[in-house]
Amino acid sequence: MAIKEVVEHPAKVLSEKCKEVTEINEEIITLLDDLYDTMVEHDGVGIAAPQINVPLRVAIVELGEERDVLEMINPTVIETSGAEVDIEGCLSFPNLFGEVERPTYVKIEACDREGRVYELEAGGFDARAILHEIDHLDGILFDSKLIRVVTEDELAQMYGEEE
Ligand SMILES: [Zn+2]
Repeated sequence: MAIKEVVEHPAKVLSEKCKEVTEINEEIITLLDDLYDTMVEHDGVGIAAPQINVPLRVAIVELGEERDVLEMINPTVIETSGAEVDIEGCLSFPNLFGEVERPTYVKIEACDREGRVYELEAGGFDARAILHEIDHLDGILFDSKLIRVVTEDELAQMYGEEE
């Protein structure tokens, strides 16, 4: 387990389609653990393998108020519905925040670290976070979906200044 350096935009690894994981071995388990350590260190709610320079279809997100960690290996989107505009950020764009339209519901299929295939349904911000991370695995970055950039002053006003 280790905290890795986060790759920042622009970088080739961030804009490429990542490869499927063919075998869940020690390397993949270590990757999942490194992703978690790196996400926590940088105070993110999700991170994808290309963001630590590994072009494989692996990503994690924290879900709900409990911030349960969801590990996704080879995730695929089965279904989406709805649409909502909300503010997003990304660890690979340290100073960029903005409004992005995403579905309000998503159903995915993915593999966990034991190699079990699972299905998961999520809504609201959880759906947004999952879709943001799966986009990373296809080399799609949130800046390409930005409807409007939100300044740091606006963010501070929206969420209040934390003392
Ligand atoms: Zn991101």
